[in-house]
Amino acid sequence: CTSSSKNPPPKLLDFTKIEISRLPTVIILGRPNVGKSALFNRLIRRREALVYNTPNDHVTRDIREGVAKLGHLRFRVLDSAGLEAEATSGSILHRTASFTANVLSNSHSLLFLTDGRAGLHPLDQEVGKWLRRNAPQIKPILVMNKSESLFDSDDSLASAANEMSRLGFGDPIAISAETGLGMHGLFLSLKPVLEDYMLRFLNDESAQENSCGDETSSAEVDESKLPLQLAIVGRPNVGKSTLLNTLLQEERVLVGPEAGLTRDAIRTQFEFQGRTIYLVDTAGWLQRTKLEKGASSLSIMQSRKSLLRAHIIALVLDADEIVNAKRSMKHAEVVIARRAVEEGRGLVVIVNKMDLLRGKNKSSSYEQILEAVQHEIQTIIPQVTGIPVVFISALEGRGRTTVLHQVIDTYEKWCTRLSTARLNRWLKKVMSRHSWKDQAAQPKIKYFTQVKARPPTFVAFVSGKTKLSDTDIRFLTKSLKDDFDLGGIPIRIMQRAIA
Ligand code: GDP
Ligand code: GDP
Repeated sequence: CTSSSKNPPPKLLDFTKIEISRLPTVIILGRPNVGKSALFNRLIRRREALVYNTPNDHVTRDIREGVAKLGHLRFRVLDSAGLEAEATSGSILHRTASFTANVLSNSHSLLFLTDGRAGLHPLDQEVGKWLRRNAPQIKPILVMNKSESLFDSDDSLASAANEMSRLGFGDPIAISAETGLGMHGLFLSLKPVLEDYMLRFLNDESAQENSCGDETSSAEVDESKLPLQLAIVGRPNVGKSTLLNTLLQEERVLVGPEAGLTRDAIRTQFEFQGRTIYLVDTAGWLQRTKLEKGASSLSIMQSRKSLLRAHIIALVLDADEIVNAKRSMKHAEVVIARRAVEEGRGLVVIVNKMDLLRGKNKSSSYEQILEAVQHEIQTIIPQVTGIPVVFISALEGRGRTTVLHQVIDTYEKWCTRLSTARLNRWLKKVMSRHSWKDQAAQPKIKYFTQVKARPPTFVAFVSGKTKLSDTDIRFLTKSLKDDFDLGGIPIRIMQRAIA
């Protein structure tokens, strides 16, 4: 009988088919210095997180997120800030704990990381206690890092594991984040949890598909209803993190006077009026503090990447600086604004710290700032008119709704799709509206169509010898903006010659 050898291997769940935002989430927790960042880096296999070995710097004291790959498993991994026992009120550690509890409620699995070389530490006990109290719904996977030397001897491994199991979370999985030893064990313990999540997720999906008729499933997706990716950019200290907290209305990013509190690419999400908004925090822009010397170039790189990942860029400026300086934008801000538009992103300018102008002549300050900012934007990005400018005080939580409405409005414009029939009716009117000095120079546009959205991109099919001049393109762009309310977003028009 040959039947047993013909059994096909079991089919693996394909995690790559799931969009990143819907992948299961795994958080790494543990006392400082056990190697959370090292494990995070190994799992994401990219240089998105930084590892520093000075326990007092705050470079890794934020939640960072990446997409992890382990065998066929894919998940979102969060590198948490350290949980420390001597949390004193108002200190960064104290705030970290409440913040972590918040994130925990949205995680599907938890890696409780310890240090096999140092052995069981009183702070591990504290973390364990904290987890029992704050996340009773999650069964942590106990992981013993820095175990590379323990792998050489079964006895040492067994005795270290035995000691760690006193935490009461079962036997630990021994790994070495630095060398990669033991990662298969980690894979085996995560596999059932993540596959279970995926199976439930796929079941939900197919249930939803089955409930749709043919007509609905073949209908075009309304892109403007898809999740929006927003990047908050600007120079250090303009209030990006404060704004981020205001937008989230919960403590997701730490803000405070501690030097070097860094926030390299953090992505987090929230709902506003039934819409999902992903926030890509790029506070690292051009931050060149001494502490971060090594990190600064990476932060800039990451900011550029986030800029490309984002749909809408919120450029934050400081009102007080604008009033006191001659120019409304500094070089870095000009670079950001230009680049955002060149990359085809929507731009919203946010003037923060308006509360600081209270007591001064407020109305003239508003007008003065608005005029200065609009004038400058027009000078640096003449190709896009009508970029929105919003005034807020992130510290006082003022302006949240206005910011979000403006961001969503810009996003919806950015997603606009116009039908070819409508565009060609429009084209006829527009061409008759404009008179060319030299009739021979009038281009013959046979056909005008939108080839893509996000940002709206059009192609003009031109017959004859005359091509569209830059003036013609500017004229068409302006007319599209005025007639279809597309101000404030980049619009692209290309031309193709046809016989
Ligand atoms: P975190 O504070 O928990 O994020 O810890 P880090 O990832 O910053 O690591 C703290 C220190 O432990 C760094 O010096 C790392 O190089 C070191 N480390 C991390 N993983 C390992 C490991 O598997 N083996 C050894 N020997 N050292 C490690
Ligand atoms: P980031 O470096 O751009 O992320 O800036 P932070 O959000 O860390 O803020 C830098 C400093 O500006 C902090 O001391 C904040 O409290 C302060 N700040 C932020 N927003 C406002 C605001 O609307 N008004 C005032 N007065 N201060 C603010």
